[in-house]
Amino acid sequence: MLHFIYIISLYKIIINCNIDLKKRNRREYWKKYTKDKSVRKRLNQKEIQRKTKIKKWFKELINTLSCSNCNENQSVCLDFHHVKPKFKQVNQLVRDGYSKTRIINEIDKCIVLCGNCHRIKHNEISEKNINSTRKTQSRRKWVIELKELVGCYNCNIKGYTRIDFHHIQKKKYGINYMVSRFSKTRILTERKKCIPLCVNCHRKIHNQIIEFKISDTQLADYWNQINESLD
Ligand SMILES: [Zn+2]
Ligand SMILES: [Zn+2]
Ligand SMILES: [Zn+2]
Repeated sequence: MLHFIYIISLYKIIINCNIDLKKRNRREYWKKYTKDKSVRKRLNQKEIQRKTKIKKWFKELINTLSCSNCNENQSVCLDFHHVKPKFKQVNQLVRDGYSKTRIINEIDKCIVLCGNCHRIKHNEISEKNINSTRKTQSRRKWVIELKELVGCYNCNIKGYTRIDFHHIQKKKYGINYMVSRFSKTRILTERKKCIPLCVNCHRKIHNQIIEFKISDTQLADYWNQINESLD
């Protein structure tokens, strides 16, 4: 009997070894296989092709959507705002080449909002907990007042949360970056190189969906007229 058990266990050990060996061989084979440059290239190409396919599919999908709040339907303006706990940003999933099912699962946790409405949504959430120095707070307030006053240069929509400063002349810093770091004078100098745009128009300009040219004189005139009513 003991003899029998001994033989069985020996047999098991041999089988296990064999499986391990197979696994190891396969791993080694795969390692060598993927080290081969031409194979690597082929695999990379396959991966790129897959990602391109997913991106194309996603682009078509997003073209059929619109903002659930204001109906904006320009795809570059649309964001996915999570209402259920998020795994990753939807765009990140697309960039990383996740499967369609995973992407759709993530989209199901979101509502579609345009850049403008998304800003307002997040502002509702985050406005209460801004902690910063008094100087920064006073500058932030000052920039907010200015944004509130100007509205979008292109579509005229108002409301400070929607407004960004888009550089017409050579950019040194973004205005939002400057608020917590530089004096009002320096911010003013930088601001004069910009026009105020809402998030949606800003994205449309950067994606060449709308275009307009502003000369240096037009820009100066614009701010002169604003300064009159601000200072
Ligand atoms: Zn909207
Ligand atoms: Zn959001
Ligand atoms: Zn606008």
